[in-house]
Amino acid sequence: MQCVPSGTQKPLHESNSTGLNRERKTFPRIGAFYSRGGQTLTQSADNIPGKRPADDSPALETLTPEQLCGRDESALVSCPWGSGLIHRDLYHPLMRLAEAAEGAGFTLKLASGYRGFDRQCAIWNAKAGGARPVLDEQGAPLDTAALDELALVHAILRWSALPGSSRHHWGTDIDVYDAGGLAEGETVQLTRRESEPGGPFEAFHDWLDGYLTGPDNPGFYRPYDRDRGGVSPEPWHLSYAPLANRYARAMTPEVLANYLQTESFALKETVMAHLPELFQRYVTVPPGPEPSL
Ligand SMILES: [Zn+2]
Repeated sequence: MQCVPSGTQKPLHESNSTGLNRERKTFPRIGAFYSRGGQTLTQSADNIPGKRPADDSPALETLTPEQLCGRDESALVSCPWGSGLIHRDLYHPLMRLAEAAEGAGFTLKLASGYRGFDRQCAIWNAKAGGARPVLDEQGAPLDTAALDELALVHAILRWSALPGSSRHHWGTDIDVYDAGGLAEGETVQLTRRESEPGGPFEAFHDWLDGYLTGPDNPGFYRPYDRDRGGVSPEPWHLSYAPLANRYARAMTPEVLANYLQTESFALKETVMAHLPELFQRYVTVPPGPEPSL
């Protein structure tokens, strides 16, 4: 398969017959389904995202390379606000998060949910080819002409995932912000400045800090909470651990290497020659804590 330019759509997985292009369903608010404790379902499981009939539901442990690498959209639904796609099992936890945020006076929105291989590849290729800036540690554009290929790969990976390895490929991870924090005409940028003191999302992130460590959190955590020498810290990036941990366990350097051999993308030769150490540094993150049911 080949990565296509941004804006060009093609079927993500032509051989998949499990409903790639079927109409996205919308679902009622979580309060209709869950008890106060957040786990007791009170409706027919067939009507609830996250509960699939057993006969068409492959075990998560058998996740395919296409599911892991952003080539399979069959598990996705529209997010609760109708813009962006997420894994169906994230729908209710996301509703709980959004409702908690709303109760605290914030308007939680997604800057990103699911992102497929082609989209990630377009970002990657644009940075590798100079059509998009590659940033230094301070967020200023780098002179990429002065870098050798491996240095360029590392520079891109600080801010953007290698196509095939993004956690956004799973539908389990989201980039969030508080739309109420934006001034008229202002748009979200997803920079650390926005969440720091004086930034438009400072209060939202202060609240989120408490929510993530509190008893009502259904399992969200920040995989890029601090700088471990790989991906630059991203306080806005949340992962739903009960689901994402399973994808992360299934995604190994071998799975990624075998899959990437089938794709075309910029700097491929250099990436493939260094994939084990790139994977360890930029793909591996600590698993999130999973709440007990
Ligand atoms: Zn993200």
